[in-house]
Amino acid sequence: MEEMNYLFTAERQQIVDMSLKLYREDLIVGTWGNLSMRVNRSGTDYFVVTPSGMEYEDTTLEDVVVLDKDGRVVLGNRRPTSELGMHMKLYEERKEINAIIHTHSTCATACAVVGIGIPMMVEDMIQHIGGNVRIAKYALPGTRELAENVCHAIEDRKAVLLKNHGALGMGETLKAAYKSCILTEKSAQILIYAKNLGHINLISTEDAELMVDYYRNQYGQQKDAKR
Ligand SMILES: [Zn+2]
Repeated sequence: MEEMNYLFTAERQQIVDMSLKLYREDLIVGTWGNLSMRVNRSGTDYFVVTPSGMEYEDTTLEDVVVLDKDGRVVLGNRRPTSELGMHMKLYEERKEINAIIHTHSTCATACAVVGIGIPMMVEDMIQHIGGNVRIAKYALPGTRELAENVCHAIEDRKAVLLKNHGALGMGETLKAAYKSCILTEKSAQILIYAKNLGHINLISTEDAELMVDYYRNQYGQQKDAKR
């Protein structure tokens, strides 16, 4: 089998390591949440994804599933995550995205339960995510409807909330997807605190656009640049 020329060892290990990191940082619990990466080999896309319904602390490299571009399992004995359809649809729509992380983090989920998106109020979130974080309409987990709702709500952003469910962050790399999740959770926490303190002052759309533009250009030229 031609696919067996590739073992995706490094990518499968990255998924295991990132799953444990998210688990230890309370962004995911139990068997909930899921992660994936798009990996190109000789011009063909493969997808490295977490297995369905496994405890993160028990998941090993061999449990991480590799699928081809048609969704056929080429490596791993487990079933892929039940949210595979949502991941695949996002990869189809967003060619620049190579990693997706779906979390059930507390503050982001609190906003998703109330039905409040995260407005443009802090710079780091706007720069990395590309603007406000919207909410995808509710649909049962694992359904095509949920995948469609998520794709519709996220538009050109790198994060979205899932009504009465959780959050999703993505990026060009797994590290960037992690950053999308952390910034979403942190901004949701700021929103909750700020609402208790008083009036929320937003950053103007004009300033937000300039910021996103600067961040994207700077990122492309100097990877280690900080602002
Ligand atoms: Zn979920």
